[in-house]
Amino acid sequence: MTLISGEAYKDSLRNMKLKAFAFGKPIDNLVEHELTGPAIEAVAMTYDLALDPDYQEKMTTISPLTGSRINRLTHVYANSDDLIKRFQLMRDMASRNGMCIGARCVSGNILSALHTLTYVMQKKTGTAYHDRLITFLEKVQGEDLSVAGCITDPKGDRSKRAEEQADPDMYLRIVDEKKNGIVVRGAKFQISGATIAHELLCMPTTALRENEKAYAVSFAIPVDTPGITYLHGAPAPDFRRFNSDRSDLGNPRYGVYNLAHIFFDDVFVPWDRVFLCGETEFTHKLVAQTAPTFRCVTTSCKCGHRDLLLGGSAVIADYNGVAKASHIKEKMAEMLYDGELAWGSIIAAATMGNQTESGSFYPNSLLANVAKRHGTVALWNAARLAVDISGGLIMCSPTAQDLSHPELGPLIDKYMKANPEVQTKDRIKMMRLMEYLTGIGCILVAESTQGGAPVVVQQMMIKGELSQRLEEFKKRVLDLAEIKS
Ligand SMILES: Cc1cc2nc3c(=O)[nH]c(=O)nc-3n(C[C@H](O)[C@H](O)[C@H](O)COP(=O)(O)OP(=O)(O)OC[C@H]3O[C@@H](n4cnc5c(N)ncnc54)[C@H](O)[C@@H]3O)c2cc1C
Repeated sequence: MTLISGEAYKDSLRNMKLKAFAFGKPIDNLVEHELTGPAIEAVAMTYDLALDPDYQEKMTTISPLTGSRINRLTHVYANSDDLIKRFQLMRDMASRNGMCIGARCVSGNILSALHTLTYVMQKKTGTAYHDRLITFLEKVQGEDLSVAGCITDPKGDRSKRAEEQADPDMYLRIVDEKKNGIVVRGAKFQISGATIAHELLCMPTTALRENEKAYAVSFAIPVDTPGITYLHGAPAPDFRRFNSDRSDLGNPRYGVYNLAHIFFDDVFVPWDRVFLCGETEFTHKLVAQTAPTFRCVTTSCKCGHRDLLLGGSAVIADYNGVAKASHIKEKMAEMLYDGELAWGSIIAAATMGNQTESGSFYPNSLLANVAKRHGTVALWNAARLAVDISGGLIMCSPTAQDLSHPELGPLIDKYMKANPEVQTKDRIKMMRLMEYLTGIGCILVAESTQGGAPVVVQQMMIKGELSQRLEEFKKRVLDLAEIKS
């Protein structure tokens, strides 16, 4: 069976023996844990949709390697159509779960680049790097595995290169070569979905020089390989999960970013899983091909998040009774315009991409970087506008405990009602979702937007002042031009 269900994916995680920590405590049960459970749900969606006949075209394709139907997230991009379908998928997924499927998304970009590079390396050096990669790919596709992509090293003092660091472990490196494999030491930081994937795929974070051979390493190993420790990141909004029932969470089913730091304590990697070992001259190309694909993939899901920000802004505007106000419509049009510019650049990057000798395909680098840069700004802008449209309750809604309190509940119900046709609890739920989607973990953005009145009030005052001052300004130019009437 090539495609497995979301439930089978969850079951496969139950069997893994990870050394993973969150809040200083071991995570015993990934599927049930407050911080890993929701992210697992988001990844499970990618499995279930692949089995949905209505979604098959979007989520799956036929593998040129195995001839079987596989999940698109395990496919090596072979042409521009593959890239566009993948980017559409990322946008669609993000707007369905408001979360991240990093446990099986980042690696696709590395795999496509490795496909190119191992092909060239094998031809040049005679080492069976490409054959090993193909064997690994067949396993990933055949077993429908999730593979986390591990690029980012701790990097220590950023002004120094890998070889110059006071501590040589600041970049993941080879510390020993044995007959049957290599031993690696170091860490990879901020790795999306690391604890909820089946495999880790590692590559260097940067291009390396001749004297940095130990750092030129790429390999894949099972997530529960001995010697690996995971430390879960703890973004501020996640803390609410430990002090709340689900109705109090903005995105109750999926809303936790699963990200972990990975420590490799002399971890053994067998040769058949090593795809780069000391060939520094290929690292520049590896980074240069992985980067544009990754830029487009990550910007695609930001477009999906922007779609949610637009949807949420429209619902809140309805709930608040301001949907017909012209400035609200203008703000939503700006969100759409700004986000679609990024989306257009992504599609252009895919359309103008490059075919490589091995048969893999990657986006145009300049357009991919333009897309990423603009997409980041567009998302922040959309979040700012969404905070503006939502109003102050976005950052100070009461909790589920308050709503169910006998005295506070009726007060909340009466005074937090806006549109009489909308239940107060639904308005608060939507505020919580918008709080989550706009990324407000502190008062900074909402307070600066809503505190002391929202932006449109300042615009009204400025317009009033303008009409008074314009008479004086008009008089000045008429005098200069010596026009009497
Ligand atoms: C939510 C999230 C998910 C992620 N998922 C993944 C993942 O799945 N896989 C993965 O591999 N990585 C992942 N990352 C890591 C991400 O790629 C890095 O955070 C990013 O590359 C920046 O590295 P850094 O965090 O070490 O910041 P830094 O490198 O410390 O950057 C901080 C600032 O310093 C500047 N800077 C850094 N070095 C220099 C220098 N030499 N000279 C001048 N300026 C410099 C940077 O430009 C930046 O402005 C994720 C990160 C986040 C936040």
